Amino acid sequence: MAAARSASTAEGSKKPAAPAPAPLTELAGWGANVRSSCEYREPETQAQVAAWLDKRGTIARGLGRSYGDAALNAGKRVLGTTRMSLFLGFDEATATLRCEAGASLAEIIRVFGPRGFFPMITPGTKLVTVGGCIANDVHGKAHHAQGSFAGCVDEMTILLASGEVVRASRTERPDLFWGTFGGMGLLGIVLTATLRLRRIDTTYFRQKKIVARDLDAMMAALDETNETYPYSVATLDIGATGTRLGGGVLVVGDHATREELPPEIAGAPLLLSPSSPKLSVPFEFPELALNGLTIQIVNEAILAIQQNPAPYSHYEGFFYPLDMLGHWYRGYGRSGFTQYQFVIPFAEGRRRMRTLLEVIMSSGQLPFLNILKRMGKESGGTLSFPREGYTFAIDFPIREGTVALVRRLDEMILDAGGRTYLGKDSYVTAETFRAMYPALDGWLATKAKYDPNNVLTSDLGRRVGLVPA
Ligand SMILES: Cc1cc2nc3c(=O)[nH]c(=O)nc-3n(C[C@H](O)[C@H](O)[C@H](O)COP(=O)(O)OP(=O)(O)OC[C@H]3O[C@@H](n4cnc5c(N)ncnc54)[C@H](O)[C@@H]3O)c2cc1C
Repeated sequence: MAAARSASTAEGSKKPAAPAPAPLTELAGWGANVRSSCEYREPETQAQVAAWLDKRGTIARGLGRSYGDAALNAGKRVLGTTRMSLFLGFDEATATLRCEAGASLAEIIRVFGPRGFFPMITPGTKLVTVGGCIANDVHGKAHHAQGSFAGCVDEMTILLASGEVVRASRTERPDLFWGTFGGMGLLGIVLTATLRLRRIDTTYFRQKKIVARDLDAMMAALDETNETYPYSVATLDIGATGTRLGGGVLVVGDHATREELPPEIAGAPLLLSPSSPKLSVPFEFPELALNGLTIQIVNEAILAIQQNPAPYSHYEGFFYPLDMLGHWYRGYGRSGFTQYQFVIPFAEGRRRMRTLLEVIMSSGQLPFLNILKRMGKESGGTLSFPREGYTFAIDFPIREGTVALVRRLDEMILDAGGRTYLGKDSYVTAETFRAMYPALDGWLATKAKYDPNNVLTSDLGRRVGLVPA
């Protein structure tokens, strides 16, 4: 972890030798629905990363929380970055942290939380690396108010395919800087990043639960609370059909100040969470057991955590309910699952959402955890996912017909002028991806400039046309 290696070894002065070929290791995305045999290595120094960049194809891997094939590279090299997680400097006056890109948000919270700082932007798990957050330009519950991860990154150092280490910022190599957000690790390996953290008075949130009886009420509640609360997320009751379709619970909130904390928690306003989850799914459910009932049980366990807001919530329950249930994905069985996330424009958003939900509910698939949120303005990341509109994410355990459903949804999203999120995706085709991301040609020009021989490759890159198949 962050303190395990001294700063003097971080830059690595001597050039290490290229490693002998290693046996292939099976790696999976977080959904466990796609797997590849890859040559997996875990460098400890920047010099090792450079020496281990295999010209036949290399991709970085953080904590493997992307659901699909973003950090897989069949038959080729995958460089795990988590041993490169040092904090290199912190300026308290500007709340600016310089760290290696393998540092996790969990580690940043552990060290800086008690001092009154928190990551500026966080996805729904803290078990992600800074490099992974940059490559997917991740968003959180407050995208409509706070934007995506790109907004808190001032500068990066990036190892290019040529072996050169360069700086990228809004003013220095801006094409590389913006292309790296949403660039899925395919322009270069981020070695270090300079991030602005958020000052917090407490590690608690004031929150409110709004129950909506149907989709219209839910979307009206999302729209009405948009200006008042920076954080908001809805969970639809996915069993509800007919006039109740799209009903569920919206939880909105904001940071709590010390003055407002109730006495029972006011004594430790910057309390951190215990490091290990309280509950755990003990093993992968066998396929035979994977039916509506088991799905319902696991679903309800998770919903109980998500939809039980007391007036004040610790950040752990507010941001990271799934981190509290260890190995929750095992509930989906050995075939794994896919998370499908899209964003569609606000115009006609309600009508389109209704049709999408109807298609999902009549598909015969077993839809699972879901989240509905509003998104705000784009970050400027060339291939970043977030754009203004409604975003919906839903899990499907893999069964016969799941891929066909996802492809049908892709067509509907495209028709609505929306796009799907590569950080979650496993199945979008190159043709559909190109139609969803009109900035693709600009990004490919940046790729040709910084990695003309396509040294940085991945299964996802080949699948969606970011590198040659
Ligand atoms: C429970 C859960 C909740 C989630 N909630 C959200 C959410 O609310 N919002 C959201 O946006 N995402 C969410 N995600 C997705 C997750 O935030 C992203 O997939 C994130 O990128 C994962 O980071 P990682 O370190 O695990 O990266 P990995 O999954 O290992 O890799 C992801 C990508 O980053 C690249 N990469 C990793 N390190 C580097 C590096 N040093 N240099 C260059 N490229 C690199 C990889 O090549 C790959 O393309 C969630 C995931 C889970 C499991």
